[in-house]
Amino acid sequence: MKKPLPLLPTSTVGSLPKPSWLAEPEKLWSPWKMEGDELTQGKQDALRVSLLDQQVSGIDIVSDGEQTRQHFVTTFIEHLSGVDFEKRETVTIRKRYEASVPTVVGAVAREKPVFVEDARFLRRQTTGPVKWALPGPMTMIDTLHDTHYKSREKLAWEFAGILNEEARELEEAGVDIIQFDEPTFNVFFDDVNDWGIAALERAIEGLKCETAVHICYGYGIKANTDWKKTLGSEWRQYEETFPKLQASNIDLVSLECHNSHVPIELIELVRGKKVMVGAIDVASDTIETPEEVADTLRKALQFVDADKLYPCTNCGMAPLSRTVARSKLHALAAGARIVRNELAAA
Ligand SMILES: [Zn+2]
Repeated sequence: MKKPLPLLPTSTVGSLPKPSWLAEPEKLWSPWKMEGDELTQGKQDALRVSLLDQQVSGIDIVSDGEQTRQHFVTTFIEHLSGVDFEKRETVTIRKRYEASVPTVVGAVAREKPVFVEDARFLRRQTTGPVKWALPGPMTMIDTLHDTHYKSREKLAWEFAGILNEEARELEEAGVDIIQFDEPTFNVFFDDVNDWGIAALERAIEGLKCETAVHICYGYGIKANTDWKKTLGSEWRQYEETFPKLQASNIDLVSLECHNSHVPIELIELVRGKKVMVGAIDVASDTIETPEEVADTLRKALQFVDADKLYPCTNCGMAPLSRTVARSKLHALAAGARIVRNELAAA
């Protein structure tokens, strides 16, 4: 029997810091410190701790904290055939920074489930609502070099089919919300509107659970903070893609808000959708006060109905320290509580 959701249910975008005994902290792509069975158990223990941190903080929709993956895109791709991780090329990710990435050398396929066992494990630990994040098709192709399909669109459709297989099994495992991370939706506007949203809808085809898309300005790493400085005083990127997302079958839209230059009225463009409003900055170690969180939520309430407002973080918290991340989770829940009480009293 699952608990019903309160008004303004809180959640995180997905990733949380890993314990230092599992992987080097405050680092992306941090290598595991264990191997074999020990690593499997280490990941499960970390997942349990991460879940407990969320529960103790008062987070309503919990996740695995992405404790079993090294990176939100790479780990999924590692499990697919058709991609050669030895054959690496340097590409420019999101028109922003160079990275050495693996190469698509043949037809891509999911030979076995990727995260389904992990999701079952999480499901056994809690009766509360559970959200699971997967990379979106467009973000996957942006993190690869392709010598086989030679078409971004074609490869995205292949990945959409693969993601759909995985999503159906995650739903079967008891996941309540499946979220696709599509930071590239803030960069390649023509592609998003031509085929990106269509590919995303292919990925959620036939699902009965709720579905979400997360679109952000990235982790608080230098390449992203430098890029943000070039975007000017008003970040209107969401304006390019929200109208089409509003008309799509996606149930929830997760967006960056607090400390960003996103004009809050852009939320109006997805009116009717549930909106995961980022009220926690993941690019700063400064802990938001509950009142600051409440303030962001009150502003958002002008453009989203209260029953559709889901307080959230701006992005994943993997690169933060565990102490900072925990304090931010507490602030998020406390801020949501303030506004919940205000709404109840109104
Ligand atoms: Zn993000």
